[in-house]
Amino acid sequence: MALVLSKRTIFSQQWFIKKQIVPRTLTRLAGVFNKCFAENSKTLPSENVGILGIPELKSPEGFYLMKESVIRKCSSLIEEAIRSKNSPNIVSVFDEISDELCKVADLAEFLRLTHPSKSFSRAAEETSLGLGAFVEQLNTNIDLYHALKHALSDKDVSGQMDDVTKHVGNLFLFDFEQSGIHLEREKRERAVKLHEMILAFGAEFSHNTSAPNIYPLKKWPADVTIPFKVSGNEILVSSPSSESANSDLRKEAYKAFYAQADGQLAILENLLACRNQLANLLGFESYSHRALKSTMAQNPETVEAFLSDSLSLLRDSTQTELDIISGWKSNENEGDTGVHMWDIRYYTSKIISESFTLSAAKLSEYFSLGACMDGLNMLFTDLYGVHLNHVDADPGEVWSDDVQKLEVRHESEGVLGYIYCDFFSRPGKINQDCHFTIRGGKQQKDGRYQLPVVCLVCNFPPPTKLAPPLLTIGMVENLFHEMGHAMHSMLARTRYQHVTGTRCSTDFAEVPSVLMESFALDPRVLRRFAKHYATGQSLSEEFIEKLHLSRTMFTSLEATTQAFYAIVDQVFHGKHPLGKSTTSVLAHLHNAYFPIPYVKGTAWQLRFSHFHSYGAKYYSYLWSKAVAALIWSRFFKENPFCRESGERFRRIMLAHGGGKPPQLLVNEMLDEEISPRELVKSLRNELKI
Ligand SMILES: [Zn+2]
Repeated sequence: MALVLSKRTIFSQQWFIKKQIVPRTLTRLAGVFNKCFAENSKTLPSENVGILGIPELKSPEGFYLMKESVIRKCSSLIEEAIRSKNSPNIVSVFDEISDELCKVADLAEFLRLTHPSKSFSRAAEETSLGLGAFVEQLNTNIDLYHALKHALSDKDVSGQMDDVTKHVGNLFLFDFEQSGIHLEREKRERAVKLHEMILAFGAEFSHNTSAPNIYPLKKWPADVTIPFKVSGNEILVSSPSSESANSDLRKEAYKAFYAQADGQLAILENLLACRNQLANLLGFESYSHRALKSTMAQNPETVEAFLSDSLSLLRDSTQTELDIISGWKSNENEGDTGVHMWDIRYYTSKIISESFTLSAAKLSEYFSLGACMDGLNMLFTDLYGVHLNHVDADPGEVWSDDVQKLEVRHESEGVLGYIYCDFFSRPGKINQDCHFTIRGGKQQKDGRYQLPVVCLVCNFPPPTKLAPPLLTIGMVENLFHEMGHAMHSMLARTRYQHVTGTRCSTDFAEVPSVLMESFALDPRVLRRFAKHYATGQSLSEEFIEKLHLSRTMFTSLEATTQAFYAIVDQVFHGKHPLGKSTTSVLAHLHNAYFPIPYVKGTAWQLRFSHFHSYGAKYYSYLWSKAVAALIWSRFFKENPFCRESGERFRRIMLAHGGGKPPQLLVNEMLDEEISPRELVKSLRNELKI
């Protein structure tokens, strides 16, 4: 985000050089997050405690020691599990194996994506791969599988298990069977091979989704400026230039960026074919049937009904929004009033900012990272009685000097867990905002609770010498969203770490985080935390109102787009063979479901990395939005600070992680059985259609 240097910020520059500015209306927590870089350095190598306080991780070599130690521990736990086939305790032993492995594997995966030192991220990657191979052995350990299968099917043994234990045991069994362990040898070997191919095709597909397209220079019209690098007869097209004011340029850049790359097409189609074969081998009709098995939606038929109902509900309001775009276009561009794919982003952001005279740079001054953290803290204190306390990390505890550690403390229960905040963009760091579970919560044998540890990764602009980190509205929503995941992890109290916090089905896991987006821009919440970073002045009522209204514009078009993406995801992962190329399938679906015409020769599916990461679960976004909207309207709309509702939400929705079937939790929260039709109605209310 570009920072506009108004006179005022230059004037306040000296303050920032001397000392961090914490206006009296902001708190110590805000001060920590608004701090300048120069004040952050603290690492003294001699006192290094190791990353996250793990002594082995004083140096990258420690990863190898941890890997060996976890393999040793797990090997003896595996023997214990095999011996426990007649004991209901077998599920606890499985959970211990999973806990030991996750503690190292998840941390390694996290540091691979975030640690600035190459030697650390390399050691983390090797550990990740080494443990992957061990897990593979574990997944094919027939004695281990039979012990669990026996315990769960023997009435005497399973009769001694409570519902949660049975549910978690069955989740372990399901995971086991996904590698084909219960199949005859030839099929089992085929399943292992397919798993490997899916991993390889998936990684390659994701990597290529952001790669530039090489486009022939001769296809680009001579009278349109080329905003990309040209090399010989080729253009390296790195973006669709959707923000450009030149419509000819947007059109050409869209066509060139989304032009079908044949190599990538083959990778996607191989990925889809392998997924389908694996699902068939495991006895499922399609990959979608397999992926949806333990979700709230449960099967593709329910998802399809939800998506097509949503699209019909959204049709008229989406058309009205497109008419608005068309009207603006005709004012600017006499003659051409048709709305094209390359117009959407440009016109929606232009119309919003001009209709509400909202200057992004000016607004950001009210959303310093510190002010937003203050807002979250106040909200969580009201809703759940918890405080976010900043604690100094010990030397060597964090992987980058700008990472901050928060202790989450409940007013009567004490410390609930820890959140490490790695908020600023940095070369080599993963550029997506995400929540990582590093250590899951779990009831321990000695009666104590293993406290959860999570890391939140965002890509905010770092503070400068002139100003603290200032967030755009989109970033504020992302921060609230990710903190929603973090609080799910902190507030859950599960017996088993296999189902800790966010380890639950995707269409349920996104509910707490999407719900937080409703809080983020609610005027009553904004009034409490949106304060100017230098003066402490609150955002004016006029701006609060405008901001709130601006977020209700083009919501039908946005929801239609999401539903359409989800339909493509379902069809791609539905029954195979698809009969034609994914581009032809896409073109057909585009014209059938999307109100803006498909652009011939383009293949946006090759840029959509979610086909890999979500695989038949992309609907979760809209689904969770509908569930969150129902919860918001029944429990928080009237009073977003209601403690009673917060406690109910914690007790029913957050406390169990994935320990209970998600649809049961939602039905209990809403006190009725929720059907897809009910969810569509909830979307209608949320979008005010
Ligand atoms: Zn999320």
